[in-house]
Amino acid sequence: MSSIKYILSFTFLNMLLFHFPFYGYVLEHIELSTFDGLVTFFIVTVALFVVNIFFLSLLALISTRLLKFFTIFTVFTVPIALYFMRSYNTILDRTMMGNVFNTDSGEALSYYHSSMFIYLFIGLFLSYVVYKIEMKKSKRVTLLKYGLGITLVGILILYLNASKWLWLDKHAKNLGARAMPWSYVINSVRYKLRALKASKKQILLPPATFTHPQAKQVVILVIGESARAKNFSLYGYEKETNPRLEKEDIVVLKNSISTATYTTASVHSMLSYTGSSSDSYEPLPNYLQRQGVEVWWRSKNWGEPTLKVAQYERASDLKEDCVGDGCSHDGVLLSNLMQKIKASTKDKIFIVLHTTGSHGPSYFEKYPKRFEVFKPVCKTVNIKACSQKELNNAYDNTIVYTDYLLARIIDGLKAFKGLNSLMLYISDHGESLGEYGLYLHGTPYAIAPDVQKEVPFIFWASKEFKKEKNIEALSFDKKSYGQYNIFHSILGAFEMNSTIYDKKLDIFSK
Ligand SMILES: [Zn+2]
Repeated sequence: MSSIKYILSFTFLNMLLFHFPFYGYVLEHIELSTFDGLVTFFIVTVALFVVNIFFLSLLALISTRLLKFFTIFTVFTVPIALYFMRSYNTILDRTMMGNVFNTDSGEALSYYHSSMFIYLFIGLFLSYVVYKIEMKKSKRVTLLKYGLGITLVGILILYLNASKWLWLDKHAKNLGARAMPWSYVINSVRYKLRALKASKKQILLPPATFTHPQAKQVVILVIGESARAKNFSLYGYEKETNPRLEKEDIVVLKNSISTATYTTASVHSMLSYTGSSSDSYEPLPNYLQRQGVEVWWRSKNWGEPTLKVAQYERASDLKEDCVGDGCSHDGVLLSNLMQKIKASTKDKIFIVLHTTGSHGPSYFEKYPKRFEVFKPVCKTVNIKACSQKELNNAYDNTIVYTDYLLARIIDGLKAFKGLNSLMLYISDHGESLGEYGLYLHGTPYAIAPDVQKEVPFIFWASKEFKKEKNIEALSFDKKSYGQYNIFHSILGAFEMNSTIYDKKLDIFSK
């Protein structure tokens, strides 16, 4: 048969034979008896079909032999993969593939069970059958026409059913980890790429000196998550989402934008001296640590670059000593923080608190009950099922909680008499709450709406810091600010002298 027929037949057989876990998961999460459920089922099937056609055509375009080899490899390995998924009730996501690669042969043998023989036999039998099928090479133009044509029609169908994207997005990880053989093939590549990137050497920045090496100083950078400026009363929002910060002596930097619309890129860029979201320079925390600043990173989020700092603590580590109602929320990041600052003998401390802030779609789970000040609230992850009011209320409550946490940090720093201290808060990116039919974030930057890019950027400084920097004489009403200001402003705050320091990007310089 021709390569095109071969690809089509293989796709159908693959979907029929190897997708029991996949469709099992789908059926568990939809109501097939409803019209909505049927449409979802159809859309998922189209998506799976398109993925198969797209990748197989791509292989065929490279070489017919490669396609043949890949299909033999698939029918041999999928039964084994299915055996593991069934026996250990696991899915083959990136983390799982990481486990597979990090398992030594002795450990691997411990997974062995005699019933695995049956699966191995099925795999061998199927690869023989596929091996025996004769495939005639189709012309590349024909392949391109069919492959691209089917893919485009599929994408069009998906596009016309945009209402199902939210469902697909929510279940993407689980579906992807059950789509054979793409789950383990793609997740293996993802795992390897990530490992490669992490091991890629960070280019070290030039040595720095401090104008006042002995002066004690604490700088806290709070990185927000999915917080958009529009919903902060500090930025003119009509609802009172910042009741506490409005009473504090803080500076609000208007017109602040993010460099990207997703966490990893945004966090990378704000910690980079170039402001780029993808360079290989050592990030700010590593640089400061290497120059003698004590750096603590506390996280209830993910996506930070490879860190080499004095202390790296995840929420799960901090939870042990945490007391109060915020321990399952971002409040955990403040656990014993001020006590630790007090106990530290270091002169210069830089602390990053990477919050989970307003990460959707389960906004209602991002704050303790008592911060539910706006009601009624959307209490499902299927946010399209909620009214706009309920959705906004849930989101706004996350901002009220962020407001509370920032005020608590300020109160904590104020309690240190005579300490030169500074707290900066900036969000990684904004969020869509249904405007233009968009939800969440991650829309490609060039076409992302402003709400995904306009972020809150504020700071509070102690009397000592203000005096040192002569803050009263500075103006903070430039036309634009952004994440590119973070690196150089923090260097400035510590009075660090380095050849890479850019005064123009330091908000505290004249
Ligand atoms: Zn984010």
